[in-house]
Amino acid sequence: MLRAAISVGLLAVLAYLVLYDFHDTTFRVQSRDTWVNWDGQQSCKPAVVVQPSSIQEVQNVVRKAAEEGKKVHVAGSGHSFSPCVCTNDYLINLDKLNGLLSISENRVTVEAGIRLYHLNELLALHGLRMKNLGHISEQSLAGVISTGTHGTGIRYGSISTLVEALQIVLANGSVVTASRTENVELFNAARVSFGSLGVIVTVTLQCPNAVPMRRIEYFVKTKDIINSIKTLVEEKEHVIIWHLLQTDVGRITLLDYPNITSPTILSKQRSPVVKFFDEIVSLKVFSVFMYISSLFPQYLPIFNSKLVANLLPSHLEIVDRSDRILNSGYPAVYTEMEYFFELDKGIEAYKEVLALSLEEEEIGGLRLPKITSNLPIVLRFVAKDDIYLSTQYGRDSLVLSLSVFRNQEVMRRASAHVERIAAKYGGRPHWGKMHNLSAKQLRPLYPMFDKFVSLRNELDPKRVFVNDYVNHVLLEQ
Ligand SMILES: Cc1cc2nc3c(=O)[nH]c(=O)nc-3n(C[C@H](O)[C@H](O)[C@H](O)COP(=O)(O)OP(=O)(O)OC[C@H]3O[C@@H](n4cnc5c(N)ncnc54)[C@H](O)[C@@H]3O)c2cc1C
Repeated sequence: MLRAAISVGLLAVLAYLVLYDFHDTTFRVQSRDTWVNWDGQQSCKPAVVVQPSSIQEVQNVVRKAAEEGKKVHVAGSGHSFSPCVCTNDYLINLDKLNGLLSISENRVTVEAGIRLYHLNELLALHGLRMKNLGHISEQSLAGVISTGTHGTGIRYGSISTLVEALQIVLANGSVVTASRTENVELFNAARVSFGSLGVIVTVTLQCPNAVPMRRIEYFVKTKDIINSIKTLVEEKEHVIIWHLLQTDVGRITLLDYPNITSPTILSKQRSPVVKFFDEIVSLKVFSVFMYISSLFPQYLPIFNSKLVANLLPSHLEIVDRSDRILNSGYPAVYTEMEYFFELDKGIEAYKEVLALSLEEEEIGGLRLPKITSNLPIVLRFVAKDDIYLSTQYGRDSLVLSLSVFRNQEVMRRASAHVERIAAKYGGRPHWGKMHNLSAKQLRPLYPMFDKFVSLRNELDPKRVFVNDYVNHVLLEQ
C-alpha cells in the first residue's frame, strides 16, 4: 500500500515537472494586480501598470509620475531575484516595445523590451548572433543590460559590454542618446543601472556573424578542478564549472567554435535526441530528484553524491546554433545568489565554500552541512569592463553562484555563510540576484560608486526612479 502511494506520488511529481512550463515569460502581473518575480519571492502592488506602445507614451508616463511626485520602475521579464523591479506607484513593462529598428552590417538596433529568445531568432535570420549569453534567453534585453547579466569566458564581457548605444527616457521626460562618443558618462552609467536613471527604450548592439558552437561536458575530481581553474580559463574560450556539494566530482562545460561552416546547423531545429538529453534527462529528471531532496534536506548529501551525480552522461558533445549552446537552461524554479571576485581571490573563496560544505551545524534538530544545496555551485568567468556599477568594473572576474531549489531555509543558511566568505574576499553581488548588502557595504567595492550616485541625483532630483531597492543599495547612508 505504502509502496503504491509512494509510486503514485513520484509519478505525479514527475508529470508536474515534465509538463509545467518553467519558461513561461508572460508579464507577471497576476490576480488583484500583484506583480511577482520569477521565483515568487518578490512582489509588489503597483497603483498603475502601463505597457506603452511608443516612446512618446513612456515619456508621458514619466512626466505624469514626476508631476504627481510618484515613482516609476520598469519590469522586464521579472527574472531578477532581488527586489530591483518593485514599486507601489507606476510599473512600466515594455513587452510591446519589442521591434527591430535597423540592421546595418553588424550593428543592430532594437526596441529595448525585446526578449532575448526573440532577438536570437531575428539575429539568426540575418546571419548574426549574440556574442555571449547567460544560462537562459527568457529575459528582456533592457533587463539583462540593467543588471549586468553575463555568460562565461574570461575574454568575454557581460551583455552590457555588447551595447554600442542606447536611448533612455530621463526623469524630466526627455529622450537622450548615449554611446561611446555621445553623452559618454551617461553611457558608462546607464549600461548597468537597474532602472535608477530612467527607462531604456532602444538599444544598439554589435553582433558578430553567426557561427556554430560546440558544447563539451565531462566530469573531473574536485581536487583537480581547483588545480586547473587558471589554465582552463586562460586556454579555453568559455568555461563553466558545476559542482554538486558533498560530492567529490565536478562537471566541466567547455563552449567553443568548431571549424564547421555548415549553414544547416545554423538554421535547423534541434534533433529529438539532443532535445531529449538537454530538456528531459538533464533538466526534468534532475528536477524530480531535486524536488524530493528539497523535502528532506537531511538527506541532501546522500542525494547529491549517490544519485544526482550519476544521472548525467560521463561525456557529452553537441554542436548547434550559438544561442542554444550558450544557454544551458535550468531544471525548475529556484532562488540564487551570485558573487564576483578577482580570479585569485575567487579561487580562495571557492575553497572556503567547499571547506564549509564539509562542516556540519545543527538547525531545527537536524545536523546539516553548513553549506549545502540540491543544485550545483556554479563557477563562471567574465572579462573586466569600465561600466561604473558593473560587477566586473576594472577586474577580470571569477563568478561563484549558489542556488537552492524550493527550500528557502537551506538557502538562507547557506547564503549567510557564502556572504561572509564573499565579504572577506571583496566579492561584489549580482544586482539582479539575492543579496543583503546595502550602500554602506557596496560603496567601497565600486571605485565609480560616488560618480554614479551624483550623476543619478543630478538627472533625477525628484527621485522618480528611486524604489526601495535603489534607495537601499545606492542612497541610504
Ligand atoms: C532562470 C534564470 C537564469 C538566469 N541566468 C543568468 C545568467 O546566466 N547570468 C546572469 O548574469 N544572470 C542570470 N539571471 C539573472 C537575470 O538575467 C537578471 O536578473 C536580469 O536582469 C533579468 O532580466 P529581466 O528582463 O527579467 O529584468 P527584470 O528582472 O524584470 O528587471 C531587472 C532590472 O532592470 C530594470 N529594467 C528592466 N527593463 C528596463 C528598462 N527598459 N529601462 C530601465 N530599467 C529596466 C528593472 O527595473 C530592474 O531593476 C538569471 C535569472 C533566472 C531566473
